[in-house]
Amino acid sequence: MINFLDLYSINQQYKSELKQAFERVLDSGWYILGNEVKQFEKDFSFYCGTKHTIGVANGLDALILIIRAYKELGIFKEGDEIIVPSNTYIASILAISENNLVPVLVEPHITTYNIDPDLIEAKITPKTKAILPVHLYGQLCDMAAINAIALKYNLKVIEDCAQAHGATANGKRAGNFGDAAGFSFYPGKNLGALGDAGAITTNDNELATTIRALLNYGSQVKYQNKFKGVNSRLDELQAALLSVKLKSLDQETQIRRDIANRYLTWITNPEIILPIVKLQEAQVWHLFVIRTSNREYLQKYLTDNGIQTVIHYPIPPHKQEAYQEWNSLSFPVSEKIHGEVISLPLSPVMSDNEVDSVIEVLNGFKYKF
Ligand SMILES: *Cc1c(COP(=O)(O)O)cnc(C)c1O
Repeated sequence: MINFLDLYSINQQYKSELKQAFERVLDSGWYILGNEVKQFEKDFSFYCGTKHTIGVANGLDALILIIRAYKELGIFKEGDEIIVPSNTYIASILAISENNLVPVLVEPHITTYNIDPDLIEAKITPKTKAILPVHLYGQLCDMAAINAIALKYNLKVIEDCAQAHGATANGKRAGNFGDAAGFSFYPGKNLGALGDAGAITTNDNELATTIRALLNYGSQVKYQNKFKGVNSRLDELQAALLSVKLKSLDQETQIRRDIANRYLTWITNPEIILPIVKLQEAQVWHLFVIRTSNREYLQKYLTDNGIQTVIHYPIPPHKQEAYQEWNSLSFPVSEKIHGEVISLPLSPVMSDNEVDSVIEVLNGFKYKF
């Protein structure tokens, strides 16, 4: 079986360094908000080119805390609207609802699967306060177009970078295109911890200070609470493990790109719609997502031929039970994408033979009706 994502092998590459990091934390006797978190935050800021990185407990909390901080600063209030793509992973939307703001869904472009900048302006109202672009599957959104709209209407831009660690355009990295960005280090992400972890990047000092307080019970000075905060700290242990893996992120991204380029060159089956890449460095291939007209049939064929695939994502957010108020709305591009996509195995530990097998099996696929 060719695994969709072999996390065991991905982490085994760094076994001795990860064990050293674990021992360092164990022996330090300091497990929360210490030097490991400080060091990782410094390293990740350097990597992204941002002034601040703030470690948090997970990627969803990263987005929730950015919006929460803007509320505390008086920039957002409950009932305000945030524009978000209609085909994202649900977390991007939950972060808005959780803060009692209103997610306003905008369709993606069918060629990039990212929010279509040409459809944003029509959705802007006097209540719109921000755009939350999601760099889906590892590919940067059209940030020049999005930032131009944000500037025109005085909106904040909050990037969801959970799938796009290291994606670059015009010499800038994901996490440095807007006012603030949320990252996830969930184990399966391009930079994955050995458990839950996340971070926020920003160049805004006041926002950073507010978020730092919010994630630690709303406290800046111990036992003095400025806000009704939460506990969403990044563990020392996860920070230490992440610092090890961050050093190899660009190398792993290069392997992802090499595999993706082989898929793009050699998968020639006309039944398969391949992803479109505009700019190599703007795509870090968190997922290699293809489309086909009868996805269930293709998935079964691949499984029967020893290839594991995953669907990202089978149900669009507006069709989820959690968002019943949207169930009767129509987002045809999103619905088409959710109905046709299937993700092929792609990871930094895939062998050349495995990549060749996937290509060969896919090229041998035919619909028999
Ligand atoms: C994974 C993911 C998140 C949430 O990250 P967690 O660490 O799992 O909370 C948010 N947005 C997108 C697009 C994601 O893929």
